[in-house]
Amino acid sequence: MAAKYAVERAREREERGVVATYIYELAKADPQKAGIAITLANGKTICAGDCNDGVTIQSVSKIFTLALALGAQGDRLWTRVGREPSGSSFDSILQLEHENGIPRNPFVNAGAIVVTDAILSNYRPKEALGELVQFVRSLADDDEIIIDKLVAQSEAETGHRNRALANYLASHGNLRNSVEMTLGVYFHQCALSMSCVQLSRAGRFLAFGGATGAGGRKIVSERRARRIAAIMLTCGHYDGSGEFAYRVGIPAKSGVSGMILAVVPGIASIAVWSPGLDTRGNSLVGTGMLEDVVDQLNWSVFA
Ligand code: GLN
Repeated sequence: MAAKYAVERAREREERGVVATYIYELAKADPQKAGIAITLANGKTICAGDCNDGVTIQSVSKIFTLALALGAQGDRLWTRVGREPSGSSFDSILQLEHENGIPRNPFVNAGAIVVTDAILSNYRPKEALGELVQFVRSLADDDEIIIDKLVAQSEAETGHRNRALANYLASHGNLRNSVEMTLGVYFHQCALSMSCVQLSRAGRFLAFGGATGAGGRKIVSERRARRIAAIMLTCGHYDGSGEFAYRVGIPAKSGVSGMILAVVPGIASIAVWSPGLDTRGNSLVGTGMLEDVVDQLNWSVFA
């Protein structure tokens, strides 16, 4: 009911935001599209609207790489990247310069590039990507999830700013692998293609104390799941994180394709998609859909 209602309201909205134009594949997205999927602790997924369209998840991938890097390196990762909200845009270089090459958090681009570099300490690029795809497939219980190679290629062709960030990190000794190798993996992780249904299932472990559901498989410890969710709440929407916490009140991570993964601890994992973005690069209609759902169901982490 709530999912259907959120999509109906989403379809009626006049203001739809602006789709990302830096690559052709995102620029051609239809801003009228709107989808939602809600996965509950019992494993049931409720969905509405364009919830089966495959979309590259972009920066939502930063959640999955963070979980992998923490699994590989534990707390050592935090010597190379912070855990504070940035208050600046996702691809800002200014702050990185001020703070001597230590990114504010793992969800701004610079931080995510460090996280990807950390994963590469244990793997070669192809293996690292194989590991990531396997991880996401197993989280979602869905072997159909793939990387959209065309999008990855476009990301590489237009990734000048990410290259600048990576070079800056390297100049501060905060990149262990080469810029091109690290970015090659980063561009491919952004191009992981998933539907709202698949994404809401892949996000379950963050909603259910590190497990895939009530009595489900344990993916990470309860403590780690809580901590990743805490960073989602404080940093998941870049310089729009405070506004998102105020309006929606649950941990969430956005991507420039208009995807958002949100979790209601103990209750649900929610993925929404609508391609039009607000001025901070977060889905405008997607945020509205989440706001409608939490209002309807009285969901919040603030009791
Ligand atoms: N591919 C995008 C980039 O690196 C991801 C950013 C985002 O989703 N905000 O620029």
